[in-house]
Amino acid sequence: MLRAVFPGSFDPPTLGHFNIIERASAIFDELIVVVAENRQKRYFFSAEERVKLIADLTREYVNVSVLVCDRLIVEFMQQHNARILLRGVRGSDDFSYEFELSMMNKALNRNIETLFMTTDPEYFVLRSSSIKELASFHGDISGMVPPSVAEALKARF
Ligand code: ADP
Repeated sequence: MLRAVFPGSFDPPTLGHFNIIERASAIFDELIVVVAENRQKRYFFSAEERVKLIADLTREYVNVSVLVCDRLIVEFMQQHNARILLRGVRGSDDFSYEFELSMMNKALNRNIETLFMTTDPEYFVLRSSSIKELASFHGDISGMVPPSVAEALKARF
């Protein structure tokens, strides 16, 4: 039984995130999308809003669930009996950051295996922060996020 977690801020979730979720759901028996709620960070959408946006768009994947995590991901994984930590990688910058993160998580718990999934080429420029900025200037984000996320961003700006 392969249970993986895919953690992130998802603020907001983009087509790049959904692409990883879709591909991972076809590989692992179970995938938990873990929405980060870090009290030191300021988010644009609340954890509940981010969970709802992702859950509504992943309903068709029966092996995908969406949960919030407000502590260390390694602790969350231990509690949920998951060994595989999945991260998406857009390029070498992402990789060097993700590599360090994986080393830190390994130091915290040796049983955790970080796996990297490369982005599909059409999504490699998608980044939540740039999409928020573009939306704040009323730019066209329709090719970057699902319609419900575009609506939520539009409503907020
Ligand atoms: P974090 O704050 O943890 O970096 P993000 O929401 O930015 O959270 O990203 C969550 C995960 O999704 C990370 O592994 C990130 O590299 C990956 N990711 C983000 N955008 C894309 C994309 N366009 N293609 C593939 N993976 C992506």
